Amino acid sequence: MSFKTISINTAIPNDPRSRVALIYTGGTFGMVHGADGSLVPFDFSLILEHLPTLRNLKLDITVVSFDDPIDSSNIEPRHWQLIGTIIQDLYERCDGFVVLHGTDTMAFTASALSFMLRGLAKPVIFTGAQLPITETRSDARENLITALEIASAGKDGKAVVPEVCIYFGNELMRGNRARKVESTHFDAFRSDNYPLLAKAGVTISYNAAYIDYRVKGELQVLNQFNTGVSILKLFPGINEATVSSILNTPGLKAVVLETYGSGNATTAAWFTELLKSAIDRGILVLNISQCVGGMVMQGKYETSRHLIDVGFSSVRDMTTESAVTKLMLLLGESRHLEAESEVQKSWAGEITEV
Ligand code: ASP
Repeated sequence: MSFKTISINTAIPNDPRSRVALIYTGGTFGMVHGADGSLVPFDFSLILEHLPTLRNLKLDITVVSFDDPIDSSNIEPRHWQLIGTIIQDLYERCDGFVVLHGTDTMAFTASALSFMLRGLAKPVIFTGAQLPITETRSDARENLITALEIASAGKDGKAVVPEVCIYFGNELMRGNRARKVESTHFDAFRSDNYPLLAKAGVTISYNAAYIDYRVKGELQVLNQFNTGVSILKLFPGINEATVSSILNTPGLKAVVLETYGSGNATTAAWFTELLKSAIDRGILVLNISQCVGGMVMQGKYETSRHLIDVGFSSVRDMTTESAVTKLMLLLGESRHLEAESEVQKSWAGEITEV
């Protein structure tokens, strides 16, 4: 995988207001109609032609563009590693980062980066678009311009939002709290269990009380992933063969079990036994609710008490996107980190502390 870098200084002959890296990975944002009418990525080094208003921002922008921009359905951990490396390499030079990414898996990538970038003290703002920038009614322009504003916003020499976020449809969310909820309208993401970090209207109003300003030390990038993780979503009528085949997948190290309501599951003996035997074999099982709001409370109902006895770990209100990416990272970095205890700690505000 390779990428190319160009520099666009829109402040010349004056000094730039701020230095921002713009990382283009692909997605609908940068698509144009190809000869056969299908959507193909445009040459991102021509971004100023598509968005001349960028010149008004007075920023020094380092544009880093994947050589082969991808639909985000093709994202894999190696792309997270590449984005992490680009941010690490440009960290001293830039005040903030904007990552243009397809919306389909943006919540996974933003979650992964929030865990990889330990000690992050600068904004990393993911955005994209529901309509390509070349379309008249596209949301791409507003999303990019405001994401750049947020990534370059500083106060008293410090970043206003030193976190990995998703900015979309006028709303700024913590990246590891967001989910894609809409494939047609412009408000594609929602953060059900954590307040918005900012809302963009006539001005951008930041919700400072909910932004993570803890002093975090030096940037350290964790980037080893183990993909031995699976998601098992419960539904009435799920059968033993299905559950058994997932739990006996070769190389499986951890399962996100998507339970009902506040973390409830069938009390059928075969189910409890299969899960117990998986846990006894060292497989980590996380209880995550299918509900988008609220949190898992194991033991609240009889239908979750057996899960405590079996040894399920509860991560309260973590999203599935966060859980999967954090597990892959913890398991990949397992020489340094103890997955079972670490997954239950909030690393980047992904779990509500009680
Ligand atoms: N399929 C596209 C992607 O995720 C959709 C988008 O960009 O919104 O890459």
